[in-house]
Amino acid sequence: RAKEGGRDGYRFYQLEMQADADAKLQMETDLRHALSANEFELYYQPQVDEFGRISGAEALLRWFKKDGEMVSPSEFIPIAEMTGLILPIGEWVIKEAFGQLKKWKQADITPDFRLSINISPYQFDQDNFLETITSLLNESGVSASYVTLEMTEGITVKDIHLTIDKMHALTDLGFKISMDDFGTGYSSLMYLKKLPLSELKVDQSFVRDLHVDQSDAEIAATIIAMAKSLSLDVVAEGVEKESQLSFLTYHGCSVFQGYYFHKPMPAKEMDDLLFRNVVVL
Ligand code: C2E
Ligand code: MG
Ligand code: MG
Ligand code: MG
Repeated sequence: RAKEGGRDGYRFYQLEMQADADAKLQMETDLRHALSANEFELYYQPQVDEFGRISGAEALLRWFKKDGEMVSPSEFIPIAEMTGLILPIGEWVIKEAFGQLKKWKQADITPDFRLSINISPYQFDQDNFLETITSLLNESGVSASYVTLEMTEGITVKDIHLTIDKMHALTDLGFKISMDDFGTGYSSLMYLKKLPLSELKVDQSFVRDLHVDQSDAEIAATIIAMAKSLSLDVVAEGVEKESQLSFLTYHGCSVFQGYYFHKPMPAKEMDDLLFRNVVVL
């Protein structure tokens, strides 16, 4: 069978590769115009405590193309990173997120509310990253102490001393740093000790099946225990089911993000939700 299908199989593979390359190129072209065409929007996904009260939110980028099609960040962020477009896009995200946070703080509905922003390793690695984020912070007039910067393990492997210094400069400004998708990267446990982190996010791949997969359950529980013993906050992402929530709660996790509570939503919906949250309290 392999022999018969071999040639056609290869041809088909080549065609697929070509189609894939064409699609990527097209996306790159579209992405170049997306900022000036105002096609990006930030959605916000609430983070809640064990009582379902909102303690913060994560800003998640959305791209709505002219035809109304929504492209997922997991599709376009990698292309933005390959092309360097992540720099202007990432700057837009930070500026927009600071501006929105400022509005929520001015409305004074949630004194402790924190906003998490995803920072690409490529963005963080730029020599001028500190300068850029500092001037965006000053322009916005928002306090860094309400902002968490989410970074992935991709960040730590290159030049660890530089990374440590840069992260300290960020925490000196008041930012908190969270290790996103924890457990999926290559970082050694030593970095957990050396980096000035405040938070670990249990990757959703461990949360997804923890009610059916014993080793995912063990990993999730271990990450929570480790975070607690290092005095780090821990957030579980991708919580969709009551059974996941009760497992995570039992193991000591007290901040959750997932469809079980809320999906990511436009700023306006988040406004309403925050307002209701206050009224309920
Ligand atoms: P992430 O930072 O790990 O964000 C969490 C992702 O999980 C989001 O996907 C969110 O919508 C999704 N999610 C949350 N709760 C659930 C749930 O209960 N079930 C399921 N199935 N999914 C859930 P999203 O918005 O598609 O973003 C994907 C990734 O794209 C993010 O993963 C992040 O790595 C990246 N990303 C998003 N926005 C930005 C951004 O502004 N800058 C950068 N550099 N990366 C971003
Ligand atoms: Mg994140
Ligand atoms: Mg994550
Ligand atoms: Mg992720």
